Amino acid sequence: MTERTFAPGRGAVQLSEREIADRVRDLGRRIVHDHEGAPIHLICVLNGAFLFMADLVRAIDAPVTVDFLSVSSYGSRTQSSGEVRLVKDLDQSLKGKHVVLVEDIVDTGLTMNYLRSYLEGRGPRSVKVASLLSKPSRRVVEVKIDYLGFEIEDAFVYGYGLDVGHLYRNLPFVTSMTPEEARAIGE
Ligand code: IMP
Repeated sequence: MTERTFAPGRGAVQLSEREIADRVRDLGRRIVHDHEGAPIHLICVLNGAFLFMADLVRAIDAPVTVDFLSVSSYGSRTQSSGEVRLVKDLDQSLKGKHVVLVEDIVDTGLTMNYLRSYLEGRGPRSVKVASLLSKPSRRVVEVKIDYLGFEIEDAFVYGYGLDVGHLYRNLPFVTSMTPEEARAIGE
């Protein structure tokens, strides 16, 4: 066992490496099945989705191409305003492609709502959405998640790509802090 400098939080949401791996494998199979073996263009929303993307592409047994975009949302740290700014745009055209947008987590839904219409405006054949996590109780706008890993309660989660102040993205599991733990580190 590798020693880690940071222990998991004691919050209610805990997803093990094994649970995540099993779920990602299922999602990959469903994506292939729904596209009937056709080429799939996966778009990763940086930075949070980078590990999910890396595992998901390897779970897809079909021709795959990848691209990356990065967004930042205006507003306070805990409340996004819904105004999304593209920090890094796509490198490839979407014309005629079956696109799957790969996100880490859908919270209010504002980012996903913006991204879906942005992608749909670029002439793809289809757009579907995969998200590792979803917090339905926080939704401000309805968004359709075609491939969802886990529905979770309203807790601040991190690990497996998701960060707390740019740290802990490298944890191989998803964990969350109790409100007391979050207060203790000033979150
Ligand atoms: P939304 O626009 O409110 O749905 O926000 C989505 C983005 O907020 C995600 O892509 C994450 O970057 C970030 N986010 C929301 N909840 C969490 C969390 O619990 N942990 C880490 N990042 C989060």
